[in-house]
Amino acid sequence: MASPTQVTASTCCYCGVGCGVLIEHDGEKILGVAGDPSHPANFGKLCSKGASLHLTGDLDARGLYPELRLGKGLARSRTDWDNALDHAATVFAETLREHGPDSVAFYISGQLLTEDYYAFNKLARALVGTNNIDSNSRLCMSSAVVGYKRSLGADAPPCNYEDIEQSNCVLIVGSNMAFAHPVLFRRLEEAKAQRPHMQIIVVDPRRTDTCELADLHLAILPGSDVALFHGILHILMWEGWIDRRYIDAHTEGFDALKNLVRDYTPAAVADICGISQTDLLQAASLIGQAPSFLSLWCMGLNQSSSGSAKNSALINLHLATGQIGKVGSGPFSLTGQPNAMGGRETGSLSNLLPGHRDAANAEHRDEVADYWGVDSLPHTTGLTAIELFEAVRSGHIKALWIACTNPAQSLPDQNKVHEALATCPFVVVQEAFFTTETCHYADLLLPAASWGEKEGTVTNSERRISHVRRAVPAPADAREDWAITADFARRLERLLRPGLPSLFTFDSPNALFEEYKHLTAKRDLDLSGLSYAILDHQGPQQWPFPAGATQGTPRLYGDGQFPTTNGRAQFQAEPFRAAKETRETRYSLTLNTGRLRDQWHGMSRTGSAAQLFGHAPEALLNLHPDELRRRRLQSGDLIKVRSRRGSLIVPVVADESVRSGQAYMPMHWGNRFLNGLGTNVLTQPAFDPLSKQPELKHAGIEVEKVELPWSFFALVEGDVQSRFEALRPLFEALAYANLTLSGRERPALLIRAASAVAPDAEWLEQIDHLLGLNKGPVLAYDDPRKAVGKRVRIEDGRITAIRLAGETAARDWLKGLWETGGADAELRRWLLAPLPTPPGTSTAKASGKTLCNCLNVSQDAVCAGIARGLDLNSLKQELKCGTQCGSCVPEIKRLLATQTMSVVANA
Ligand code: SF4
Repeated sequence: MASPTQVTASTCCYCGVGCGVLIEHDGEKILGVAGDPSHPANFGKLCSKGASLHLTGDLDARGLYPELRLGKGLARSRTDWDNALDHAATVFAETLREHGPDSVAFYISGQLLTEDYYAFNKLARALVGTNNIDSNSRLCMSSAVVGYKRSLGADAPPCNYEDIEQSNCVLIVGSNMAFAHPVLFRRLEEAKAQRPHMQIIVVDPRRTDTCELADLHLAILPGSDVALFHGILHILMWEGWIDRRYIDAHTEGFDALKNLVRDYTPAAVADICGISQTDLLQAASLIGQAPSFLSLWCMGLNQSSSGSAKNSALINLHLATGQIGKVGSGPFSLTGQPNAMGGRETGSLSNLLPGHRDAANAEHRDEVADYWGVDSLPHTTGLTAIELFEAVRSGHIKALWIACTNPAQSLPDQNKVHEALATCPFVVVQEAFFTTETCHYADLLLPAASWGEKEGTVTNSERRISHVRRAVPAPADAREDWAITADFARRLERLLRPGLPSLFTFDSPNALFEEYKHLTAKRDLDLSGLSYAILDHQGPQQWPFPAGATQGTPRLYGDGQFPTTNGRAQFQAEPFRAAKETRETRYSLTLNTGRLRDQWHGMSRTGSAAQLFGHAPEALLNLHPDELRRRRLQSGDLIKVRSRRGSLIVPVVADESVRSGQAYMPMHWGNRFLNGLGTNVLTQPAFDPLSKQPELKHAGIEVEKVELPWSFFALVEGDVQSRFEALRPLFEALAYANLTLSGRERPALLIRAASAVAPDAEWLEQIDHLLGLNKGPVLAYDDPRKAVGKRVRIEDGRITAIRLAGETAARDWLKGLWETGGADAELRRWLLAPLPTPPGTSTAKASGKTLCNCLNVSQDAVCAGIARGLDLNSLKQELKCGTQCGSCVPEIKRLLATQTMSVVANA
């Protein structure tokens, strides 16, 4: 029985900013969400993703009951938890007996809560006896882990969010913070507005929206970061802008680095990086003369075959200038996932153990084994993500447990990943959304609780632990991740170690937290003094928080002491190495991948909300206009993009923010929304030798126009998720198909497809049936000679479904009519005319893009306002855009800058 509206304080489940949210609910259903004004990460702010959380998670996309497949090629059928987990325990036990502990593996996620992670780690290492437990954080932060550990001695970001506001010079490297960490970017924007003398340098091959805040943008060539940092250090040394006293007192290894960077002269570095010497000198001058210097970075450094070297070369700048451990200073990685930090803390990478310990360290293994009451922990090195899926593909891994992640979308070289999953004898997928690409391969599919339905803790980018609270029960049979893991572990231990006391007697997430926290005692991250009660009474806290502490630790290394063997930070001297795939004749473009503003990772959650597609309705490849001209392409043309590993077909779009010779495509697109295996069919599995993080940011590609004369367009409202599931397989056979959602008040399914030849009539009949266009108030026009057909369903004067087949020239015009609700005489005239283009249609295309998601303001409306001379403030006043979450403000500023420039140029 639903009760009156209640509010539960929890956290956002998307990025590592870790914003606090207030979930409005009735005890059964989530009704709304707002930023938590008391949470120190966001003080009430949310970005467009966080503010839409309550609109996501459609039950049609959720897993509700366990499903089991009893043989490859058979369909899965619904089962109960006892049967599901007994079956899994039996298969795992048989596999372990027959092939040994390293024949199974666990691939888990930065989305899990700390308690979930801890249960998985104990299961893999203490019960199963394997270090084959890795996480999707391997794709995200493992280079930062190596950078922190070897330069500073521990995987501990030393700063806090207030440092972002208090710094005099902020260097943002390889991060489109405006899209990826929007609430922190808002805090930076406000700080810059209050203290305009704060200098912001953005280093990114693309001119992203983050650059709109920058005093200096260095559009370096992809992968040249190490050369840039060494070049800056060269100038700092030459100009005397280093802190010799700090170097002597608190560091080691400077002389070797000094010898190395001597060769990184401004001329050489400007050449390697593709920037001017003037800009390089300006960057060094801003950094060297700033009273405080902070660096922020993300995937642009980490997702690289030199990721560890890039991290350490950046940290070198802080050590050389003594800019660490004080207000507004220090190296500060922006964590991608909401609890990637918790994963690192609990040992959820194959080379780690709980409490920031190393699996390769015998002393560390003994400490954890003693604590867990087992004889020993496995000595054999565990497989990292890329190695792990390769071992699945080669048949060495025979049982694979995947939790809360979607490797069939997110890993590089997707052809091989799909092959691996299809080959594996037993795949378990523990997942809240049964619509992900990976679920297709599950022999056992286990429904997991999701945001708002589970309890535990998360650590955000600034080491701050929040209590994640449950607002509503999980739907149907879905269970919390820790509970699934512990239940499976108990069944498995009855088979593997019968008669012995259970290692998994946990009955709540609190019980897991209480056991886990003591493993951190006396370690750098010591959180043994924390409890759920303290988090509830005192709010989120930053570790270390040792026993007896009364508050967390805002900043590390203020005393110049580092957790290394001799207490000194370690300079790392490594030369610049180019990315693995550089441009060459057959692959003349470098593909960079990144994020969309309103989507998250593989879109399993955000892809269930139509509103979140308004800003980027379809998958596109962005190229500089010069590259389009060179290849005789136009925006909107369908192109085949191919790398050494695979290909896919998407429309191309001209984009001045991408440098010539480069290309950009968002990382979110997978096979669910786009025919082919998605963006990552192109990306490469080459990885950093230390962090084993793959080089997702640099792939050599080539593009060519494809001729697919038969095109298709459809838009239909009602039963969106179920229609999607029914229609999606029918488009698999076409060369190009992009199925997404559209609209706000009237969520709709949007389909764009193309093919070399027209599909047969039965195919179209099936489609019309599923679109509801086979009967009722449907206007129809067919020209069989040209294989062209149009259908429009109008109900109560409103278009409710459209289908164009053969040619689709009117699709933008129709979409516009759909959005304005019009179904007038003009539409009827066009429909019955043989002309593809509606009469009176302007050749200038509307963008169809929603700029402000909160208040539904289109890009066209903003551009029209700018053309009338409105500035940012008057746009906000008149259109209300940018007045809520603020995520669209950088884009509005960019439009203002570009449109104003074009007016000046044309004057
Ligand atoms: Fe969520 Fe946005 Fe905050 Fe990240 S910045 S935690 S996505 S609300």
